[in-house]
Amino acid sequence: MSKSNHKLSIIPLGGLGEIGKNMTAYQYGNDIVVVDAGLKFPEEDMLGIDVVIPDVTYLVENKNRVRGIVLTHGHEDHIGGLPYVLKHINVPVYGTRLTLGLVEAKLREHNLLDVTKLVTVTNRSQIKLGQFLVSFFHTNHSIPDTVGIALECPEGICVHTGDFKFDFTPVDGRMADYHKLAELGERGVLCLLSDSTNAERPGYTMSERVVGQTIDDVFRQAEKRIILATFASNIHRIQQVIDAAERYDRKVSVVGRSMVNNINIAVELGYLRVNKGTMVDPDDIAKLPAHKVVILSTGSQGEPMSALTRMARATHRKVEIVPGDTVIVAASPIPGNEKDIARTIDQLFRIGANVIYQQVSGVHVSGHGSQEELKLMLNLVRPKYFIPVHGEFRMLKIHSELAQATGVPEDRIFILDNGDVMEFQGGEARQAGKVTAGAVLIDGLGVGDVGNIVLRDRKLLSQDGILVVVVTMSKQDGTILSGPDIISRGFVYVRESEALLEEANRIVTVTLKKLVAENVSEWSSIKTGVRDALGRFLYEQTRRRPMILPIIMEV
Ligand SMILES: [Zn+2]
Ligand SMILES: [Zn+2]
Repeated sequence: MSKSNHKLSIIPLGGLGEIGKNMTAYQYGNDIVVVDAGLKFPEEDMLGIDVVIPDVTYLVENKNRVRGIVLTHGHEDHIGGLPYVLKHINVPVYGTRLTLGLVEAKLREHNLLDVTKLVTVTNRSQIKLGQFLVSFFHTNHSIPDTVGIALECPEGICVHTGDFKFDFTPVDGRMADYHKLAELGERGVLCLLSDSTNAERPGYTMSERVVGQTIDDVFRQAEKRIILATFASNIHRIQQVIDAAERYDRKVSVVGRSMVNNINIAVELGYLRVNKGTMVDPDDIAKLPAHKVVILSTGSQGEPMSALTRMARATHRKVEIVPGDTVIVAASPIPGNEKDIARTIDQLFRIGANVIYQQVSGVHVSGHGSQEELKLMLNLVRPKYFIPVHGEFRMLKIHSELAQATGVPEDRIFILDNGDVMEFQGGEARQAGKVTAGAVLIDGLGVGDVGNIVLRDRKLLSQDGILVVVVTMSKQDGTILSGPDIISRGFVYVRESEALLEEANRIVTVTLKKLVAENVSEWSSIKTGVRDALGRFLYEQTRRRPMILPIIMEV
């Protein structure tokens, strides 16, 4: 049947069974095209980890085949992993103007801008990457310049939606490319990979315009300052705030580093329209009457160091919130952030601010399509095979049921895990094994140098504290020359535990003497002996397992 013996493989490397770190590899013969390279924020039990990125071992092993990384849009869960990935595989990166504007800022921070080839695309572009012909279609999302991607190879056409919703009244007036999607459907699509984030939500996601109406209502009624926190990348929403400010004759000031950066990039590239004189420096707002001021801020997720959180704690250097100010938190919590946001909102209420937040008003709509929009995508594209992506397992499962409802047979729908290989040949699909995939934990600037052992140590430290045992022994005969001294941190309150620590001290001494009598002389065995004996004793006494760190000095 098939003209060549090449196969098309689709390999999700991130974003399946989870929200975040989206990344998918498409491979045909010797050509690999990667769609997105996202990051994910750490889960609560990943202490001290800043970000999590996909494991790209498979791409590194096939370095010479990777033709490029193609981006759908500028959100962190789609571009945030790029600096780390580019350090291993230096390939060209393709994206729309705004997406690459945000990527540039990121690469500059990592000193990668000069060594990376960035290629701007539009929804009219067609690029040849090996045997893949890659083209784009505009979609609606909570950041402008979002595209979905069509990848054509001799085996057929794949459509990768990226994050999307269908907004029939978009703030920037740019409709989704319904025609292009229908045209792809008409030509025949082999496989559709579609966003499952909101697969659990019935109906349609509301238009971003709804938020504009709420913002207008607030502006009409507010008597003092308005402080609005939202995602720094939600340029549409920021536009609606600026429009309302201009309508109601207020000046706009921006606080928070990412908000300042994104607004600068968006203005420079023409994605934000701002009248001359609308913006004022945060240093100058004190000079303006309260009813003439709007402050755009970061911190809609209650991030501890963000501008809004500091204002709520009254520790922001430039803005002090006073009773009567109106604070709008225009975002919904990203799972895991609920507590932080609730704390911030609570503090704002305490100060006496008039707080408007998601639970009680229409200040946020999702950037992801609900069930009817997911069905519309399926109906336009009419794929032979379907792979739900971007979502936790239940969302993928529900999305697969929606696909069945639109007529995709159950045996042509594949719910995959990261690393699963989906193979297509001669129009037939089968699951064909697995490649390495998973999470790489990044701590500060290091890449993947934190493994399970480090994480386990941090967990122990945070829960049960640490005991350091210092002892000096004679090299000749193993007698104890000084110590043992036991130093404890985060384990027990020393003043109330003198007896416990004295007993611990005695146990260490006895253990050391016993080991020496048994002619044990390697450091590692002595340390293990001390750790075991002390650990057992402390657990019996306290039911806790502090980390025990024996330091033995030989003289
Ligand atoms: Zn997104
Ligand atoms: Zn996303």
